[in-house]
Amino acid sequence: MSTFEGPGFNTRAIHAGQEPDRLTGSVAVPIYQTSTYKQDGVGGLRGGYEYSRSANPTRTALEEALAALEGGARGLAFASGLAAEDAFFRTVCKPGDHVILPGDAYGGTFRLVARVLTRWGIEYTPVPLGDLDAVRAAVRPNTTVLWCETPTNPLLGIADIAELATIAHDAGAKLAVDNTFASPYLQQPLSLGADVVVHSTTKYLGGHSDVVGGALVAASAELGDELAFHQNAMGAVAGPFDAWLVLRGIKTLGLRMDRHCANAQRIVEFLVEHPGVSQVLYPGLPTDPGHAVASKQMRDYGGMVSFRMRGGEEAALKVCGLVDVFTLGESLGGVESLIEHPARMTHMSVAGSPLEVPSDLVRLSVGIEDVDDLLADLASALA
Ligand code: PLP
Repeated sequence: MSTFEGPGFNTRAIHAGQEPDRLTGSVAVPIYQTSTYKQDGVGGLRGGYEYSRSANPTRTALEEALAALEGGARGLAFASGLAAEDAFFRTVCKPGDHVILPGDAYGGTFRLVARVLTRWGIEYTPVPLGDLDAVRAAVRPNTTVLWCETPTNPLLGIADIAELATIAHDAGAKLAVDNTFASPYLQQPLSLGADVVVHSTTKYLGGHSDVVGGALVAASAELGDELAFHQNAMGAVAGPFDAWLVLRGIKTLGLRMDRHCANAQRIVEFLVEHPGVSQVLYPGLPTDPGHAVASKQMRDYGGMVSFRMRGGEEAALKVCGLVDVFTLGESLGGVESLIEHPARMTHMSVAGSPLEVPSDLVRLSVGIEDVDDLLADLASALA
């Protein structure tokens, strides 16, 4: 693992795992676009690489950077966020185990557990994680995972990571935190007691809407090794070019997040005053139910903003259709601002389930454009 111990987050983002190439001095980590490696006699590996599903130098650089940014013992890069989640669950759970999920988990996580993992004998209970008594009450003797997402997608609910870690560990379970919405720049779950951090690197870590990827970062070397075994055994690894794109994105993560947060704050101030908007969901709002906990565990409140329209679904769909600088599309966390209607887009998979989202909800991924252009765009779409 990386021995780099830079003093600050941005220094680590630029240097951890990314020393100049030993052979050429290349400052940018090369894209090792190879499936296999020449051996000097059978078993004579140069640098420890034998086959790129097991390990690839570009992916290693990303995995070391991820571990350094989250403060974990080991990072692992996957082909998507859901591939990372699947590897985690199938490493830690066995048939008959029980998993606690957030009552408003990302729809894809819910679908993975409810429609795929249940077929392997895994039970689950969705619980509002803001209600710690409800979480305690949901624990069963066979609970092995407490899955936390904070802030949640798309309702921006906040959960207290340190409290959940205590509940999980008292129950002999592991706490996994999906840190996709916050990114390691804004929130460090492992330092609050989580056992593993999960990312869709597709989002803020990649940051440019040009790659699909996922990651796990384990707090302990022991769990990291178990996850690494499953990563290789199951095979859903990040390819070298995708790993390189995420690595490149990570270098500017801190800068981008500061701007995402500042732009989101201005947009929230505009939305709360707008007569067509019935509710703004953003943990930075002092009136938000998650504000106190978010202030305790996050550096800032993030670039995701959701709001509900007084005119219901029709008004929500209308806004999505009238914007110009915002792009109507799924995903989030890129430099460009996106808008979407969760009930009919990203969260279609939870329609009719306990996780169904309101149809008057609009979700914004606030980008890093000039905020006045974003405000003017929303003002005209909401007029
Ligand atoms: N977790 C969260 C919070 C997400 O928003 C997403 C995707 O939107 C995922 C996990 C899944 O990641 P991926 O789409 O990279 O598989």
